[in-house]
Amino acid sequence: MDRARVNMKAAIFLGPEKMEVREVPRPGCGDGEILIRVGACAVCGTDVRIYYHGQRNVHPPHIIGHEIAGTIEELGTGVSGYDIGDRVILVTSVGCGKCKYCVRGYQNLCVDTRAIGYFYQGGFAEYMAVPREAVQQGSVLKIPGELSFEQASIIEPLSCCINGQDYLKIEQGDVVAIFGAGPIGCMHTELARASGASETILIEVSPTRLDLARDFSPDLLIDAGREDPVERVLEITDGEGADVVVVACSSPRAQQQALQLTAKRGRISFFAGLPRGSSVVELDSNLIHYREISVFGAFASYREQYIRAMTLVSSGKVRAERFITHRFALDDIVKAIETTKSGVGLKAVIGNEAQG
Ligand SMILES: [Zn+2]
Ligand SMILES: [Zn+2]
Repeated sequence: MDRARVNMKAAIFLGPEKMEVREVPRPGCGDGEILIRVGACAVCGTDVRIYYHGQRNVHPPHIIGHEIAGTIEELGTGVSGYDIGDRVILVTSVGCGKCKYCVRGYQNLCVDTRAIGYFYQGGFAEYMAVPREAVQQGSVLKIPGELSFEQASIIEPLSCCINGQDYLKIEQGDVVAIFGAGPIGCMHTELARASGASETILIEVSPTRLDLARDFSPDLLIDAGREDPVERVLEITDGEGADVVVVACSSPRAQQQALQLTAKRGRISFFAGLPRGSSVVELDSNLIHYREISVFGAFASYREQYIRAMTLVSSGKVRAERFITHRFALDDIVKAIETTKSGVGLKAVIGNEAQG
């Protein structure tokens, strides 16, 4: 078959607020590469940001989307350990393999990280080729038969939450407060509970999101538009504060409040990045000093965390399907992005019908 004549449908990002679903040549499968037929690709907050504002490392025309699950369609020369028809997900960050972070397994922190859906073409398409470097790093992970592609597409964001919580060492009896009740905040709630948190508190300003978050049964929901989260958390913890706080919303104010409502020896994750230009935040460093608080960052995730996320999803400890509130066909990608931005739901997933 003449590969050059085989087309596929793909959503091409052409610049801020410009995306077109077009017929384009299907990618070939070069030496060492794996061609995937995309079954599902979930929309990430980052995809929304790229669509509206672009991103430095995304050069249009480009196919974005990195929360990918699909089927192996073709194996490049020299690829072993996989079969055509294997159902897989992909690790987003592709490292150089040589820097000190890569050597330690942290591809997400590589000095020259090249992520799928950013540097490489992503999953808002019918097919995508996994680059050779990614295949070599073991970025293609087989998924168990009982997981649907939709469920599997949630493993990527969940692995990022695991990366955030690895630093926090949540243990039995911890009170965990989470700012932001979007999909990521809800995932943090489920993870914290799975780690033994005695109490989970979700803090959110959007009434719609507060409503959606009820499904995840946090012990307390705080409507930060109506009450002061610092006062409320201190009140229910006898003035001690929360042992662990995750800031899963892009808000300098939430970062400040997080510090104010953290208990002694507490751990904080600044999980969400802040918009460029508003990332210099005034924080009372004496709170960190006298209360012995630790503040951690988190960015993306690495391979081993995907494997743990997959185990949590396939065992049902984290119920992936509950995060999926919207489903769209590839043709409706812009609608999916707009829906995600509006905050009316949690995850929107682009599904390729034939893949179920
Ligand atoms: Zn993502
Ligand atoms: Zn590296």
